[in-house]
Amino acid sequence: MNAPEITLDNLAFLDGKPCELKAGETILQFARRYLGEDHIPTLCDDPRMKPYGACRVCSVDVALKADGPVKAVASCHTPVAKGMHIFTNSDGIKKLRKNIVELVLTDHPLDCLTCEVNGNCELQDVAAKVGIRQVRYWKPETHLDREKDDSHPYMRMDLSKCINCSRCVRACDEIQGQFVLTMSGRGFDAKISADNNALFGDSSCVSCGACAETCPTAAISDVFQSKSIEAEKTVRTVCSYCGVGCNLEVSVKNNEVLSIRAPWDAETNAGHTCLKGRYAFKFYKHPDRLTSPLIKNKKTGTFEKVSWHDAYDFIASRLNQIKQQYGADSIGGISSSRCTNEENYLMQKFIRAVIGTNNIDCCARVCHSPTAYGMQQSFGTGAATNSIVDLELTDCIIVTGANPTSAHPVTGAKIKQQAMRGKTLIVIDPIKTELAKLANYHLQLRPGTNVAMLNTLLYFIVVENEQHPGLIDEKFIDSRCEGYEDFVRQIKALDVNEMCAITGVDKELARQAAIAYASAPNAMSFHGLGVTEHSQGSKTVMLIANLAMITGNIGRPGVGVNPLRGQNNVQGSADMGCQPHQGAGYLPMESTENQKYYELKYGVPSPAVAGLKIPQMYDAMLAGKFKALWIMGEDLAQTDPNTHHVVSALKQLDLLVVQEIFFTETCKLADVVLPGTSFLEKSGTFTNGERRIQRVNAAVEPQTGTKTDGQIIIDIMNHMGYTQSQAQAGKYDAASMLQEVASVVPFFAGATWERLGDQGLQWPVNADGTDTKILHTDTFKRGRGKFHFFDWKESHEIELNGKDFPLILTTSRVLQHYNAATMTRRTANSEIITEDILLLNPNDAKAKNIKTGDKARFFSRRGEVTLTAEVSDKVKPGIVFTTFHFPEHMVNNVTSSECDTETMCPEYKVVSVDVERAS
Ligand code: SF4
Repeated sequence: MNAPEITLDNLAFLDGKPCELKAGETILQFARRYLGEDHIPTLCDDPRMKPYGACRVCSVDVALKADGPVKAVASCHTPVAKGMHIFTNSDGIKKLRKNIVELVLTDHPLDCLTCEVNGNCELQDVAAKVGIRQVRYWKPETHLDREKDDSHPYMRMDLSKCINCSRCVRACDEIQGQFVLTMSGRGFDAKISADNNALFGDSSCVSCGACAETCPTAAISDVFQSKSIEAEKTVRTVCSYCGVGCNLEVSVKNNEVLSIRAPWDAETNAGHTCLKGRYAFKFYKHPDRLTSPLIKNKKTGTFEKVSWHDAYDFIASRLNQIKQQYGADSIGGISSSRCTNEENYLMQKFIRAVIGTNNIDCCARVCHSPTAYGMQQSFGTGAATNSIVDLELTDCIIVTGANPTSAHPVTGAKIKQQAMRGKTLIVIDPIKTELAKLANYHLQLRPGTNVAMLNTLLYFIVVENEQHPGLIDEKFIDSRCEGYEDFVRQIKALDVNEMCAITGVDKELARQAAIAYASAPNAMSFHGLGVTEHSQGSKTVMLIANLAMITGNIGRPGVGVNPLRGQNNVQGSADMGCQPHQGAGYLPMESTENQKYYELKYGVPSPAVAGLKIPQMYDAMLAGKFKALWIMGEDLAQTDPNTHHVVSALKQLDLLVVQEIFFTETCKLADVVLPGTSFLEKSGTFTNGERRIQRVNAAVEPQTGTKTDGQIIIDIMNHMGYTQSQAQAGKYDAASMLQEVASVVPFFAGATWERLGDQGLQWPVNADGTDTKILHTDTFKRGRGKFHFFDWKESHEIELNGKDFPLILTTSRVLQHYNAATMTRRTANSEIITEDILLLNPNDAKAKNIKTGDKARFFSRRGEVTLTAEVSDKVKPGIVFTTFHFPEHMVNNVTSSECDTETMCPEYKVVSVDVERAS
C-alpha cells in the first residue's frame, strides 16, 4: 500500500517541525506521538478517560499561522488543526507550568520522604520536571489538616494530598460507572467525597480501585500501598477469578506479594480490575493453606501428613490395583478451570494415556458445556465469536441470563458504559440486575422459560419483517445458513400469546425488543449461566445462535454470540480436552482416525469409548462401578447440585484423591489430599472468554510443602511408568508444555511462549503466529450455519415438585465472592459480604410473614437451608434468589439433579422450593 501523500492540508508544526495529523487527535495526543509520552507534563490527564482540562499543566502555546499571535491552551482538550504552530516549551509556557505546580504545592504536604508514593508520584515528577525548587508563598490558606478516612476494608482516602484533578471522580464514572465519588463544595471548599460525604467504607463503592489506580498522588490509595516503590520486582500475570482474564501487575518483595495493580496497556482491561483481581490475593499465604500431602488413616478417620514420595507410592499402587481389578473405566479425573492450560492438558493426558480411559471432565460440565455443544451445532465452534473490544463498535447489546457487573465485572463495567452512552441494551433475566436497571428493555421472565422467550423474539422478527422488511438478513441466510425454511415454518406456527403467558413477559415489550435487536446495524449478544444451567440450556444456546444468524449478526466487528465464561480458564480446560467425548483440540475420541492421532502424540493406544460426564460418574459410583476419582482443584461437595447425592456418591469410592490449596468440603471425603498451588505461584497460560491465550507468570515460589499442579501430575505420570518427555528433566516447565500443547491442539499451532508476549493471542493461532479476533468471517467452521427449532418444555423439576414447592429458587454469584469462595473468603472480601442472603419479593415476604433480617428456612424435595432474608423487588413474585458461597449454608442441599438434556449441565437455575420464617 502506498503511504498517504503529505500535504500542507494534513500538517501541523510541533516546535517548528512539520508533522502529519491524525483525524480526531488533541494537541496532547499529537505531541505524544512525535515527542514521546512524557514530553508535555500533565496532572489531570489519564489517556483512558475523556480530556478534562482541569490542571492546565499541559498548556502549550498555539499560533494559528506562522508568526501569528500565540495563545496558551490546555493541550489535553484542544483539538489539533491543520496549519497550527504548537510551541511545547516556550519560556512563557515553562513559567506558566511552574506557577501552576507551585500553587498546587502550597496546599500539599511536603512530606515526600515518608509518603507511600515517594518515587512514584506524578505530582513529584511534574514538580521536578517543571523545575520547582521552592514554594514561594508563605502561610497560605490550606487543607493540610483534612482528616484521613480509613473506614474501607481496601481503600484509603487522605484528602490533604488531593490536588482536585478529579481523576478519581472521572474514573469512577467513566471506567467503572459507579458514580460514588463527586466533587462537593465550591471554590476553596471543593473536595472529593464518597456518596455525598459518607465514609468511604459506608459508601456504595464496589472497591474496583479505579480511583486509586488513577490518583496522581496518595490522596486515594489502598491498604496494600500498591503505588509504593518498595517492591523488588513486578510480575505481569493474569487474574484467576473469572473469564475476563484481566492482566495484573504483581509487586513482590522477599518472595511475598505486596500488592497488585493492573497494566494500562493491557488489551483486556487497560488498567482496570474488580476487587477480586486487585485486592483479593492474600488467600495465597493464608494459614489454612495445605502444606503437606495427607493420607486418611482408615481406622481413625483422621488425616496424617506423609512425604510426597509416600503419597505418590500410595496413589500409584491403589490406582494400579483398581485398574487391574475393575478396569481403567472404573477410574476417572476431574480437572480444574482454575489451573493453567498446560496443567489441564497434562491432567487429561494422565487419565487417557496413563490410566487408559476417557473418564475426564471439568467444571465446564456444570457451567458452559451447553454453550460449547450448542455453538458447535450451530456454527461448528463452541467459543465466543468476537472480542470484548467490539463493544465499542456495536449498536445494540443483548444480555441473556448473565449478571456481568457481578460475575464478569470488567466486562460488565464496559457494557454499562456503552448503555450509558445511549446504545440499546436488552436484558433477558428473571432478576433485576444492575444492567437490567439500565436496560431499554428488561424482559423479566420466569426462570426456566428461556426457550419460550427466545422463540417469542424470533417470532416477532419473522412476523414484523413481513411488514417492515430489513429486520431479517436474507442475503446472509441464503449465502451462509441452512435449515431456515423449516425453522421459519415452525416459528410461525407458534402461539405467541401462549409463549408470553409462559414467560410472564409483556407481549408488546417483547415485540419492541425484538425489533430493536433486529434493526440495529450491529448487535452483539452475551449470555451466561442463566442460559446454560437449565434443562433446555443447549437448546437456548442454539436459539441465541438463530437470533444472530437471522439478523446477519455474525462474522464482522461489533456483532456475534459471546458466552461470558465463568471461571478464568474454563475455555482452556475444554480446549485442552478435559471432557469425556473430545480430546485436546475437540477431536471426537470415538473416531478411529483421532485415536490414531492421539496414539502418535502420546505414544500409547488411545481409549476408544467416550467417557462418563460428572453426573454419570456419580451414578456409576452409586452403582458400585466407579471406584477411583482424582479431582484437581474443584470443590464438588460444595458446588455441585444436590449435595446429599454428590456426597453419597463420593463416599462409595475406593480411592478419592483431591489436589487442592485449602481443605475443602470435598477434601473431607478424600483418601489422599495433595497440596497444590495458586496462580500466583505458577506459570502457564489461561484462555479467557474471548479465546485469548495469555501468559501466567509465577510471582512467588510455591509455598513451602506445596507443588505446582502441573508438577504433581508429571510426578504421578512418571511414578506410574509413563515418561512425560516434554518436561525438562521431569520438571514442569510452562514454555515446554505449551510447545507440546501446540503440537497436539491444531488451533494452538503457532502459540509459543515468546509469541504470546504481554497481550496474548486469540485462537485459532496459525502456524505463523497470526491470531483470530473474529470467527466465522466468510464461512462457518461447520460450513453453513444451522438453524434449529425447539419448542419450550416445562422443566421436569417444576412438573414433579412445583405443586408441593411453589416458589422457584435461582442461584448466582455476588461481586465479592467467587464460586465456593475458597479463595475470597480468605481475604478481606469476607468483611464486605459475610453470608449468603435469600432475596424474596415483597408480596411473597408478606404472605410468609418474613421481613428483612429474619431467618428464612427454604426447603425442597432434597433438603433445606436457613439464611438471612432480604425483601427486595429485584426478584419477581414467586421467585427467590441466593448465592452458594458459604459452606456453613451449603445451599446446594436444596438444588436438584435435573440437567440439560444434551450435556448434563445441572439445572441450578430452576429449583422448586418453599419458604417459611425460621425465627
Ligand atoms: Fe478481571 Fe474477572 Fe479478575 Fe475481576 S475477577 S479482575 S473482572 S478477571
